[in-house]
Amino acid sequence: MRLIGVAFLILTAIIFLLPEPEGFPILEYHQVTDEPLDPDFEVYNVPPAEFAAQLDYLAAAGYTTITLQDFMRVVHGKGELPEKPIVLTFDDGYADNYSTMLPILEAHNMTAVVYVITNELGKKNYLTLEQLKDMQRRGIEIGSHTADHLPLTSLDKNAQRRQISDSKIFLEWSGLQTIYSLSYPNGAFNSELEEILREENFLTAVTGEAGLNTLATNPYELCRVHIRKPRFGLTEFKFRLWKAKFFAKLRAL
Ligand SMILES: [Zn+2]
Repeated sequence: MRLIGVAFLILTAIIFLLPEPEGFPILEYHQVTDEPLDPDFEVYNVPPAEFAAQLDYLAAAGYTTITLQDFMRVVHGKGELPEKPIVLTFDDGYADNYSTMLPILEAHNMTAVVYVITNELGKKNYLTLEQLKDMQRRGIEIGSHTADHLPLTSLDKNAQRRQISDSKIFLEWSGLQTIYSLSYPNGAFNSELEEILREENFLTAVTGEAGLNTLATNPYELCRVHIRKPRFGLTEFKFRLWKAKFFAKLRAL
């Protein structure tokens, strides 16, 4: 046991001493509220005051928020990334993303990507189509979190395609601008899904794997770091940003 402990410490020290990894973080949020829908899953909500403090910190640390469409434009040779880019993403499409998150975001002149489960839209506590259209008008990128939020790797190929393409077609036929990005439900993905996403004209997809992203990262396997309800305020938030770097270093080993 002692040997394992020593080996772990040495490995951690080596990773710590490695040079700063390249790439930018993508943060994964869910609800921004003091009253989570399911108190058992409290980790999935960040209170508004904490969220505002996190954005204050990012602004002070020199980060510039971008959308994944901005990122893909640069991948395709149009323009350049800002000096310290960061992407804020919100999964599941909760109503508080419009009522609570958006005003805080706009007060910081920041942008975000919101991933919606299309069969939940308009239901209690979920975003409506009108709210999504308004968010797009205000510069928020809307993405798909599939039609029903089933882990895609557990479905056969036809069902996978339906979950992916139905959600995109529904949003676009409802009057939203083209949907280019997908968030894998439960972070479950594999390389066959990438093929379907390409065929369905998606340009990016985000996972739940911790790490950083560069222009060379597979755009269908973008890394994200999960921002849970913090127990230790900003210190914990900074730790999550550090965690993204740590995993980026690990991947580079
Ligand atoms: Zn989800």
